[in-house]
Amino acid sequence: MPHHLRTATNTSRWIVLGAVVAVLAALAVGALRLSAGVTTAPGAATAAATAAAAGPGATGVPASSAPAADTVDPRTGRHSTLGTLVPDYTLPPIENGMVPVITSIPTGQKVVFLTIDDGAVKRESDLALLEKNGIKASLFLAHTFIAGHAAFYHAYLNAGYLIEDHTMTHNLGFIGLPYDQVKAEICGMADYEEKYFGRRPVLFRPPGGPYTEAVRRAAAECGMRAIVDWKAKANARSMQYQVGGALRPGDIVLIHFRPEFPADLAAFMKAQKAAGLKVVLLEDYLGVK
Ligand SMILES: [Zn+2]
Repeated sequence: MPHHLRTATNTSRWIVLGAVVAVLAALAVGALRLSAGVTTAPGAATAAATAAAAGPGATGVPASSAPAADTVDPRTGRHSTLGTLVPDYTLPPIENGMVPVITSIPTGQKVVFLTIDDGAVKRESDLALLEKNGIKASLFLAHTFIAGHAAFYHAYLNAGYLIEDHTMTHNLGFIGLPYDQVKAEICGMADYEEKYFGRRPVLFRPPGGPYTEAVRRAAAECGMRAIVDWKAKANARSMQYQVGGALRPGDIVLIHFRPEFPADLAAFMKAQKAAGLKVVLLEDYLGVK
């Protein structure tokens, strides 16, 4: 074989070898990303692009194979707790100047929502316990319990929990207050949370739960999207149901940051597992920012 042809053949051999190495590298990257649970679309797209660049016939990891568990919800801009679940409920709009009230979500989907109130007890171990069990929750905090301790809740925010409005003073006679005071209780806490937590709350829970049309109107004027009460609570180390003796799909559950939080959370998880329900963040299900 003439010298110049042999050189050409050697060159083409190197090109083929290079392409094979590139394909193997792309497959290895894809396998590593999958085994590490890293499923962001950009990563998968990079692996696919690398494989494509290696030449025709190369196989990569198509972006469509990436599970939705770690994707950002375009409705909220947040990493969602919903996984592949598509909500079948839409929050009613504000009507006649009043926010809607929800105590459970009317759905057949096997989901349950945890809400944690007040903020009287502040322990890093409570967050660790929630995280260990893969539970995200909505925190309805009142200024009177958390004043001077806003920084403590940044760990919750960083871990993907959301903080909502539970008034300034947690006055249990709240619904009997004059309208301007009702509004100051709600708007004041919304302003505080926006300032210290970087997000204006969109959900409101009245102290103790009761509400009036005036409360629903004041909540709307403070920028709330809904009043959120509850269908069951974990209290004094056991579950208390308003209806029946078990959790049902769509239930909103109340628990408090109290000394007995670990035992209350255990009671909730026992009921949640017995009912076969997945704990997802209420705001993710509602699609609210
Ligand atoms: Zn409360």
